[in-house]
Amino acid sequence: MTDADAHKARSAANELVDTHCHLQDAAFDGDRPIVLERALNCLSWFIVVGDDLESSRRACELARERVYASVGLHPYHADSVSEPAIASLADLARSPYVVAIGEIGLDYYHGQAPRDIQQQALEKQLELAVRLGRPVVIHNRDADDDLLRVLEGFHGRLPGGAMHCFSGEVAFAKACLHLGFYISFAGNVTFPKAGALREAARAVPLDRLLVETDSPYLAPQPVRGKRCEPAYVRHTAEALAAIKGCSLEEFGSATSANARRLFLSRDNH
Ligand SMILES: [Zn+2]
Ligand SMILES: [Zn+2]
Repeated sequence: MTDADAHKARSAANELVDTHCHLQDAAFDGDRPIVLERALNCLSWFIVVGDDLESSRRACELARERVYASVGLHPYHADSVSEPAIASLADLARSPYVVAIGEIGLDYYHGQAPRDIQQQALEKQLELAVRLGRPVVIHNRDADDDLLRVLEGFHGRLPGGAMHCFSGEVAFAKACLHLGFYISFAGNVTFPKAGALREAARAVPLDRLLVETDSPYLAPQPVRGKRCEPAYVRHTAEALAAIKGCSLEEFGSATSANARRLFLSRDNH
């Protein structure tokens, strides 16, 4: 094997993208540079996602070659979505490393803000994404119907998006696909009791699938219960490859191409 062949083999094996992690989280304060190095050693690239202004700023500070950022206000912080906050997000998004607006969405399980406030916060940030021509990263918990209704209002205008840490059923996955969204699975798809979620993954075509860690949360089997980190995306990718009946290499190159198409191509499709 020549050096070039060896390099090619290695990069094909390493072609994995973590589309959603929170490397700026305090859980990494003790060893962030080491975790980042490990991630860069085994992934093609990854996205550090913000959930409020401060964490969005910190995501932008971490951004560099192969480390991208997403900026947005999570539904937990729906009542902080003001004109100045939107202007601050727009300002951060001027960086070429900011590849998406998110995470934004609806959370009727843990979210404290009333549903109408959450919906308005989501709509304002979807409008920002349209204005900036950036795809969105959507968080959803127990809000399928309202979320679909809001997203339908933006159909044809949004430059795409990902349903992050997908936890819904087949019908909801199909509705999201119909709206042009990519479906991103996290470590919970590997859990023994997640049969329904694996069913949903089976229903998503390989060219619309993404994989993520949502680290430091939701470490996949067999590292479940530990602090999750981007490098662990490999375990989730292995489980998803088995579900899709393909090799890890095929799965990695297909989902990396999807992530590139959604987040890194200028016209986003
Ligand atoms: Zn989330
Ligand atoms: Zn997240």
